[in-house]
Amino acid sequence: MSKPIPTERSESVFSDFKHEYAPHQAAVEANRCLYCSDAPCTKACPTHIDVPEFIRKIATENVKGSARTIFDANILGMSCARVCPVEVLCVGDCVYNAMGVPPIQIGKLQRYATDQAYEKGWRFFEAGKPTGKSVGLIGAGPASLAAAHELRRMGHACTIYEKREVIGGLNTTGVAPYKMRADRSVDEAEWVLAIGGIDVKTGVEIGKSHAFEELEKKHDAVFVGVGLGPDTRLGVPGEELPGIHGAVELIERMKLGKLPLQGVKHALVIGGGNTAIDGVRELMVLGVPNVTLVYRGQEPKMPGYRHEWSAAREAGVSALFQAVPVAFEGSGKVERARCVRMDENKKPIAGSEFNVAAELVLMAIGQSTLGEQLASLGHRDQKGSGRHRRTRCHRAQGLVRRRRLSQRWQRSRERRGRRQGRGAGHSLALGRQKCLI
Ligand code: SF4
Repeated sequence: MSKPIPTERSESVFSDFKHEYAPHQAAVEANRCLYCSDAPCTKACPTHIDVPEFIRKIATENVKGSARTIFDANILGMSCARVCPVEVLCVGDCVYNAMGVPPIQIGKLQRYATDQAYEKGWRFFEAGKPTGKSVGLIGAGPASLAAAHELRRMGHACTIYEKREVIGGLNTTGVAPYKMRADRSVDEAEWVLAIGGIDVKTGVEIGKSHAFEELEKKHDAVFVGVGLGPDTRLGVPGEELPGIHGAVELIERMKLGKLPLQGVKHALVIGGGNTAIDGVRELMVLGVPNVTLVYRGQEPKMPGYRHEWSAAREAGVSALFQAVPVAFEGSGKVERARCVRMDENKKPIAGSEFNVAAELVLMAIGQSTLGEQLASLGHRDQKGSGRHRRTRCHRAQGLVRRRRLSQRWQRSRERRGRRQGRGAGHSLALGRQKCLI
């Protein structure tokens, strides 16, 4: 089971970026909904929650029914209400946008209903009749949790293997704390596990402490829900200097403990995606006086969400566009980055080098791929690509690459978890062993 997370954490200073609704606010907002029959908001939701239905239930004071509608489509509806980029999904597709009227705040309404379910201890699902089959799931993040819950509803026994001591995956270790803090993610994981019959083994790293083949022998099916791997590095001189970190690694340290930032007056975050934007916003709140995002392309072409970047700008973040570090320098620790200007095709401009002060650098330029992750589990096909011989990993690799540019990963992984949980369930019912990703 999960180890308790420390009470003293750097992320504790963050407050919610989006405020929760009081009951009367939720009622007013729910009553604005037009309950559209073609509901573009539902089509835009990766988990296809019946949005008008759950909003109608809030409007009629049936909050429990509303929560059930949400969880039936998405068992991780509580965290999705907080972290999902609704501005480019359901809220972005609300018909009110075309009328020049503020769209329905679907995420806040979903949060209202799901928070009530947690506070009041409502539970909606129970495990199915035992089938005698078992599934091993690697990773205790959103995909495995959703898949395990679905498999339990079908009656299959589940064991989750997690290399960390805490559960919840990236929801616990990587979500920006102004969206959701780590303790809330652990609460959600435990709420999902309360269906019963899901054994969680933490501190177990498949491919190191246990061989993948052991799981194949032990279970009727194996689900690989490992997510992405370590932060990618630039590969430039001086990158090994103390003070230079992978963004995902440093965010995890901030979420699960205290981050020492004494003496840091200038921080650089390299990258233009959503992790980079989270990084700059987090460092600002943690009190670093000068935080600069360094992106090799032009501002309009940044892959991160516009609304997130606007919030970072409002918080006082600086930016260096069309620039990239070519070396880091310092005496015993990083003190500056040597950067070069880039042209509109992201090619270095000769003779354009300049220095930028930096006592802290975060690399937010991506993470290792799913193929590399699979290889680390001890799985390679004959060509050494890391693709499992009987899996759909090659398709999943494409999905993961696309998702690196988007925080849709959260909801998509949850949906994939449920869908493939069902796939595993059906395969087991047919008596086939199957390895899923
Ligand atoms: S599109 Fe907007 S108004 Fe229509 S059902 Fe969805 S939330 Fe309600």
